[in-house]
Amino acid sequence: MIQDVEDQGTKDPGELLHRLQDAERIRLFLDYDGTLAEFAPTPDDILPDEALIDLLRRLSKDPRIRVAVVSGRRLSHIIQLIPLEGILLAGTYGIEMQLPEGRQVEQARYDEIRPLLEEIKPQWKALLEGREGFYLEDKGWSLGIHAGRAADDEASEVLEQAVNILEDQPLDEYRILGGNKFLEIGPKLANKGETVRYLVDSFPWPGAELVFIGDDDKDEDAFAVIHERGGTAILVSREPRPTEADYRLGSPAEVRQWLEGLLVER
Ligand SMILES: [Mg+2]
Repeated sequence: MIQDVEDQGTKDPGELLHRLQDAERIRLFLDYDGTLAEFAPTPDDILPDEALIDLLRRLSKDPRIRVAVVSGRRLSHIIQLIPLEGILLAGTYGIEMQLPEGRQVEQARYDEIRPLLEEIKPQWKALLEGREGFYLEDKGWSLGIHAGRAADDEASEVLEQAVNILEDQPLDEYRILGGNKFLEIGPKLANKGETVRYLVDSFPWPGAELVFIGDDDKDEDAFAVIHERGGTAILVSREPRPTEADYRLGSPAEVRQWLEGLLVER
């Protein structure tokens, strides 16, 4: 259940860190954009961050810690951003994954998902033609419209029209994600909650403390599942806001500092 704003930000993430420093096993699930790194100018920008890569490398080498990065970006981007073995990388909300040993797995069939997206893409493209502040992102497995730099009125009007285009389509195998100035269509299983459930159940690590850190509404699905499995959720947000999470960190810089804390010698 999403808690009231007043309940948020009251728990001290330092206290959680203290508890985890004594844990034998810690399983981290980390979102990328807005959580580990500040947002790139557009979602197609791939700007690897050496300091972050070094931090993730050190976390992955600690025998007490296992790391999974669970992102909405396509897997090929995440692999370029985090060129490391020993970490599980999940792209498109977990539809496509690279396991720690390097093997890649997919949770849906691309040749079944793609044809409808091919139909929608030119229609969405035509809708955005000549408009300022909109960006059509083709992630292969999904199509998204980002309207972050568009005027509020125009953004809601255009996104509504984009939803109307989907109306007469066979959408049983798809999931429509709405958000703040954002719309995306992708496979139904492209869901961070489903992905965490799959990973925890398919690759069990008994006794591990589960922690999910994320910054947006797609991460809330995962917060719910992490709680179901007895774990802890941390929201990344500069301001308190309604969330399922237990703790809040203010920025990607704070997240990195907190993760460094896990590496402190006991
Ligand atoms: Mg994010």
